[in-house]
Amino acid sequence: MDIKYQSTRGQKEQYTASQAILQGLAEDGGLFVPTSMPKLDKTMAELSQMDYKQVAYETMKLFFSDFTEDELKNCINNAYDSKFDTEEIAPMVEACGAYYLELFHGATIAFKDMALSILPHLMTTSAKKNNRKEEIVILTATSGDTGKAALAGFAEVPGTRIVVFYPKNGVSAIQERQMVTQKGANTKVIGITGNFDDAQTGVKKMFGNAELKADLAKKGFVFSSANSINIGRLIPQVAYYVYAYTRLLANGRISDGEEINAVVPTGNFGNILACYYAKQIGVPYAKFICASNENRVLYDFFKTGTYDRRREFVLTNSPSMDILISSNLERMIFHSAGNNAEANSAFMAQLSKDGVYTITDEMKSKLVNFVGGYATQEETLGYIRELYEKTGYVLDTHTGVAAYVYDKYVKETGDKKVSVIASTASPFKFSRAVMSAIKGVEDTRDDFEIIDELSELAKVAEPKAITEIRTAPVLHDTVCETEEMEQQVRAFLGV
Ligand SMILES: *Cc1c(COP(=O)(O)O)cnc(C)c1O
Repeated sequence: MDIKYQSTRGQKEQYTASQAILQGLAEDGGLFVPTSMPKLDKTMAELSQMDYKQVAYETMKLFFSDFTEDELKNCINNAYDSKFDTEEIAPMVEACGAYYLELFHGATIAFKDMALSILPHLMTTSAKKNNRKEEIVILTATSGDTGKAALAGFAEVPGTRIVVFYPKNGVSAIQERQMVTQKGANTKVIGITGNFDDAQTGVKKMFGNAELKADLAKKGFVFSSANSINIGRLIPQVAYYVYAYTRLLANGRISDGEEINAVVPTGNFGNILACYYAKQIGVPYAKFICASNENRVLYDFFKTGTYDRRREFVLTNSPSMDILISSNLERMIFHSAGNNAEANSAFMAQLSKDGVYTITDEMKSKLVNFVGGYATQEETLGYIRELYEKTGYVLDTHTGVAAYVYDKYVKETGDKKVSVIASTASPFKFSRAVMSAIKGVEDTRDDFEIIDELSELAKVAEPKAITEIRTAPVLHDTVCETEEMEQQVRAFLGV
């Protein structure tokens, strides 16, 4: 089946997968969605005999239907290799009756590696397929995690360069070290004197700067973006929800066809939407339990049908979920309106004008399988401690939000279905908060001392990603004013 992509906002053109990956965002500002949903052509039993890469191929080939088998398998082999510290790629751990799908075994020990390790290969393959000769230049503004995952994904990938801007005083010490020690001649990391919004605004300005783009084109460069609305990030995430089901089946935890639930710590709505897509292609997921932190805009939305971003932004101990605009929700709004771009555009216009919109009852009825929940910072830390004391298993703060929400959901509903919890980061990535949770008091020691103790307590070897930055030399020390961002990009590219 040939799958094409269209915008969620009504522009009529259809695009191949490779065109949609290269373009990122549709010209009318919408997100690319498949015009029809494919179905898996292998049974769950057949898939349960396959390894991660094979399951990833069987999933992605459905959506990336203009890629040849060789092209797609090459992308998959280049992504899910020894950058991951286990051949299972996404192993599953049972604790207190729930199944934690560990999505943090890649280069930067957080789940964004699952997609960002393959995106560069999807992009360069897409460029070749469309006879684009330019070198792809990725520009990213980061508040910490995405930047490093993108750097690790694009480093040394031929035909690409990547420039990452981060707020010099706005990321954790570990996050900064992870970035400034990044190897690869095609990478550039720059601290700016402003905050994350300044970095983001500066990057957006460059994307919209016609003169800069023209100068780049003369030298054979073209800008692209690696952010989570690219369909090349969403689809690779569908694969691990197929994989999770088939592992449970392979291990005799469920019978073929039995429905299971998924619990996903959510920010931008990309990860949980991937699970919804997994159901659409034929995997028996029942409920999608959407777990938020104190920025509970999605919890309120699923409860009331009103999305309202007009509220105080809370900085929490699960920072990668501190979001008030969940960009990928737009795709779900489009689908729940019956793939209606006009309706979706109207809601998005209201959101940008008034900061709020309310969906219809009919749309709400299409979202009944989504269950919203949230956890406060104290509830999250409390649950991390409780689970550790009962089982010895240590969660990071993001996964802790999901685990608390799931526990509460089971107590309230009595729903006994087997449940998979997306475990989105290694506890080593947020070791200070995690250790404070376990000990019940704020841990103020040096990061690496805390990490040593965490490794002992959790009986888990320190991940390579941490060991590397203990001694790795600093390779990036550029700091600039917000106004100098363009100049820095020009200097790096020689434009
Ligand atoms: C990005 C991120 C999330 C949120 O994922 P979305 O796809 O944006 O919903 C959750 N946990 C961690 C650790 C993350 O880095």
